[in-house]
Amino acid sequence: MPVAPVSTFRETKVPRHIVCLTFDFDTQSGFIARGMTTPTPLSRGEFGLVGARRILALLKPFGIRATWFIPGFTIESHAGACEAVVRDGHEVAHHSWAHVPPAQQSREEEEADLVRANDAIARLTGRKARGYRSPSWDLSENTIDLLLAHGFLYDSSLMGADYWPYRARRGDQVELGKPYCFGEETALVEMPISWSLDDHPHFEFIRTPQGILASLQPARAVMDSWLDEFRYMKRGVEWGILTYTMHPYVIGRGYRMLALEDFVTKLAAEGAVFMTMEDAAAEARGRLCERSASGRIQPT
Ligand SMILES: [Zn+2]
Repeated sequence: MPVAPVSTFRETKVPRHIVCLTFDFDTQSGFIARGMTTPTPLSRGEFGLVGARRILALLKPFGIRATWFIPGFTIESHAGACEAVVRDGHEVAHHSWAHVPPAQQSREEEEADLVRANDAIARLTGRKARGYRSPSWDLSENTIDLLLAHGFLYDSSLMGADYWPYRARRGDQVELGKPYCFGEETALVEMPISWSLDDHPHFEFIRTPQGILASLQPARAVMDSWLDEFRYMKRGVEWGILTYTMHPYVIGRGYRMLALEDFVTKLAAEGAVFMTMEDAAAEARGRLCERSASGRIQPT
């Protein structure tokens, strides 16, 4: 018999398996942050505008509300495209202003960027972001503190679990040659992610002076793996959340869009409950509040 995780957390009577479809609407910001400012890489980011229109059109007939992590750069450069996201009822969450990873910033730089991007989101949506995802998934030692100070509900940048959100910690003690020591659990809900559930490493071709990353995997093979992640969650737990990460300039190619449409159709047939990350994080927080000391929904 295959071995599957078994949740010892309070089981719901009716199984509930949540899927968060998330789109990091970077456009040119990631290329600029890496110094790739010649016309072709910039146009590659520009293609995200095409991809975004296709994604909105795909999601609408399904009635799915997704979460769009939009850098302030994209909001201020491509206002119409971002307004279309809001108009369709999707959540807009925080993804920095300039797409510079926090791990490369001082605390002051990181906070200034956080505030600037949040102001752009407030102008776009009428309120500040409830969720955050760091550029390139690399938090600094200050990020959790700053997110708490600025009223965030959740972060989606860490990989310490797959189906169970957990409380983000601060102050883990790490020293070469010494045992790992967990720090304090905070009120911030961590909505875990994985590079394996991100379209970028599967599909992109990147050529830099340091080398070439030529992924370019068949889209349906990747989506089959993603669907298996959902099936494994269903097999093992009564309640869980699975988060998929995509980028309009990556997933927006025609053959990937067809694969994505089939993938979403299959998820729906498997019983997936599609939610925004904010709504899913609020549900997870309710469960975490019921749970005592360990803070994790997953078995201990
Ligand atoms: Zn990004």
